[in-house]
Amino acid sequence: MSENLNPFAIAQAQLDEAAAILQLDPDMHAFLREPMREFHFSIPVRMDDDSTKTFRGYRVQYNDARGPAKGGIRFHPDETIDTIRALAAWMTWKASVLDIPLGGGKGGIICNPRELSRGELERLSRGYMRAMARYVGGTQDVPAPDVNTNPQIMAWMLDEYELIVGHREPGVITGKPIELGGSQGRGPATALGGLITIRETAKLKGMDLKGMTCAIQGYGNVGSNAHQLAHDMFGLNVVAISDEFGGIYNVNGLDPAQTLPYSRRNGSLKGFPGSDVISNSDLLELDVDILIPAAIENQLTSANADRIKAKIIAELANGPTTPDADNILNAKGCYIIPDFLCNAGGVTVSYFEMVQNSYQFYWDEVLVQQRLDQKMTLAFHAVHNMAQAKNVDNRVAAYLVAVDRVAQAVRLRGWV
Ligand code: NAD
Repeated sequence: MSENLNPFAIAQAQLDEAAAILQLDPDMHAFLREPMREFHFSIPVRMDDDSTKTFRGYRVQYNDARGPAKGGIRFHPDETIDTIRALAAWMTWKASVLDIPLGGGKGGIICNPRELSRGELERLSRGYMRAMARYVGGTQDVPAPDVNTNPQIMAWMLDEYELIVGHREPGVITGKPIELGGSQGRGPATALGGLITIRETAKLKGMDLKGMTCAIQGYGNVGSNAHQLAHDMFGLNVVAISDEFGGIYNVNGLDPAQTLPYSRRNGSLKGFPGSDVISNSDLLELDVDILIPAAIENQLTSANADRIKAKIIAELANGPTTPDADNILNAKGCYIIPDFLCNAGGVTVSYFEMVQNSYQFYWDEVLVQQRLDQKMTLAFHAVHNMAQAKNVDNRVAAYLVAVDRVAQAVRLRGWV
């Protein structure tokens, strides 16, 4: 039978496994298997040629027992409600495993932002916020950037919200430009959080990261920052990187000081001088010490897991590994740092942004990084200790920590 690659079915299967180990009450399990609220709406946008195009928008507030829902908004032509449900579930577990007082949410619009003018993109972003304004806010649900959305889009959404409610409320959205109440250090936060979990893994295993080889799939916000930080913090030898157009490889390492401006200038890594071409699938199978998937879901599946050679997989992307691949990789002794732990740096600094907005007093980047390091390190060891105590893999352990905390909040509220 072929593998089920529906991300929400995967998220539910992962929860089911944790629920069985936790011996979760069946009513609680049923409640946590489904989103609490979903919004499906149309966004009519006046296009530059004066026609009106209607886009489909979604927001899922998966669970807000521990605090306001929190999660990004994606603009993608292949967006599906099940992907958003899965991502909203993972946000719930992510906020919980980091022990920050937030729930989980996610949103999206089916669109191809590359086909929109700047004016159309602004009207679409404002339209999304008009549709959701009554249901978001610093105490309800706080959106943020995700794939194909950025600080400028957050700024338009913030402005639209504040026009509607008639007052300033910067904490309604995170990932804002610094000038509008964004936090120092938000840009590289997801990658930095992931690198901190790699550092802790290396300590546990007694490994010296300097000169170890690494491959990174995806060269957007997360992948490109991971490259820079892997190089600067640990002297990792990053031999391969890629984007949606393919990858580049150099056994002697790729210098981010060269590849980052090249990728920015050319819109892709293609043709980078002094490198060999490598496909995205071959990059995943390279004989490297550390593999960092930082692009999209379902990259490590039953079709390629037995050919993966990396000893550590740091999942900066959401949902890069299917359950079947998980089983194969764990059996091979691969150490997986699961997505909702590894990539939690972004939501953690988003939470710091909300805190700074609420008391209108801003921290410098060093303080942000110190507090992020503290949170990530604590969460990493909570998961590692759970894995040891219950003799389970890291992903199951992360679920055990996270689901138990959410279930306690649900129980204390008397919902189930
Ligand atoms: P992004 O849009 O900035 O970059 C995505 C990168 O992936 C681009 O380089 C793109 O070319 C590449 N890509 C797209 N499709 C690909 C494919 N089929 N094969 C290989 N590469 C492909 O997005 P991002 O913010 O860097 O997010 C990357 C991943 O990290 C996503 O899974 C996202 O959900 C996750 N994530 C992001 C954050 C954050 O703070 N940005 C936080 C947590 C998790």
